[in-house]
Amino acid sequence: MSANLQLDDVACPFCGLLCDDLRVAVAQDELTVVANGCPISTPAFASLAPNGPATPRVAGRAATLREAATAAAAILRQARQPLFAGLGTDVGGMRQALELADRCGAVLDHMNAESTLRNLLALQDEGLIATTLSEARNRADLMLIVGTDVVSRYPRFFERVVWNPETLFGLNGAKREVVYLGEVVNTAPGVAPDGRLPWVVSCAPSRLGELIGALRCVLADRPMDARGAGGVPMDTVKALADKLRRARYGVAVWTSADFSFPHAELVVQSLCELIKELNRETRFCGLPLAGNDGDVTANEVHVWQTGFPFRTSLGRGYPEYDPYHHCAARLLARGEADALVWISSYSDRRPPPPTDVPTVVLGRRGLELPREPEVFIPVATPGVDHAAHLFRADKAVVVRLGQLRESPLPSVAQALAAIEEAYS
Ligand code: SF4
Repeated sequence: MSANLQLDDVACPFCGLLCDDLRVAVAQDELTVVANGCPISTPAFASLAPNGPATPRVAGRAATLREAATAAAAILRQARQPLFAGLGTDVGGMRQALELADRCGAVLDHMNAESTLRNLLALQDEGLIATTLSEARNRADLMLIVGTDVVSRYPRFFERVVWNPETLFGLNGAKREVVYLGEVVNTAPGVAPDGRLPWVVSCAPSRLGELIGALRCVLADRPMDARGAGGVPMDTVKALADKLRRARYGVAVWTSADFSFPHAELVVQSLCELIKELNRETRFCGLPLAGNDGDVTANEVHVWQTGFPFRTSLGRGYPEYDPYHHCAARLLARGEADALVWISSYSDRRPPPPTDVPTVVLGRRGLELPREPEVFIPVATPGVDHAAHLFRADKAVVVRLGQLRESPLPSVAQALAAIEEAYS
């Protein structure tokens, strides 16, 4: 498989869109995107050239997988409060992580939990009328992009979902309208194929809540004694409300990772309420984008196995969800966790946090490390070194990603299974 060849219709694991149309050239172990790449996927595939040793290490010395697994199991056996964090893995890896965490009573938290929770907290409180990438692509006549340019994190979003010429129900995708809300940097992808410019309503991210609240007021015909909201004049707020109300199928798109200001979950909550308000008069849905570093996948597996999202403890023999107390950074800072298992199989730039507690790292070959961990097991990258399943950003589809090259490395699931066997 690793001889020189060219693979078509490759699914890409490097953001939640999981584009499945890449053409990738494989020369020995090096991977080059030759068609349908993007500013994230092209360098990401190129960076997968083997770098760093392929053998596990215990206390910095080369070891076999069995020796590393035995050392990791000994750390977990001695720990009173183990912590499984990072969790950058696929469905199989996350299932195995939950199985081992259940055995040793660990807390689980994902490296992207901070941003994921902005959506989860709002969802748990208010619910969301959500749509999928396919529905948006086939039905949306208006895209309301809130607090993000989208493309910095999901570079092919406009190409694949907004300006696609083909739709299933006769909608002309090229005729959609795009409205940006916020301080967005790159609005060029929002220019329609016929040259129409997007409408950009400028508003500081921390004031988006004000603006959305005013839109809700206007839509509900409640009196508002104000000249503007969130720095946006009232005439513009009214015109915007009118545009949203006239959409036949509007879609509000946001990426909670870009809502990095205090209490951002309240903005998401307000957005969810705006969408409900709009559904009194028309059809409008939310499309929160996520799925990088396997965050959507890890959470979906976590929910179906335990009934709760991550930041859950399995320490008492049953799941206890607590988004505050079970935050990995907090547990480590307060000395409440005494062992860390860090999983990062996609990027070599998502290292474990600096900590003195005994640490087991299941990481990509060449992963940047703040210090030599007690145990390091280099693991395969899902969808590259082994076949894998990942949830797409909209959680509606699980995509199967193929194996692109031979690899001597174990998958996260295999490495964790070896630790569990040694733990028994
Ligand atoms: S947009 Fe995302 S899934 Fe698509 S090629 Fe780029 S990184 Fe990969």
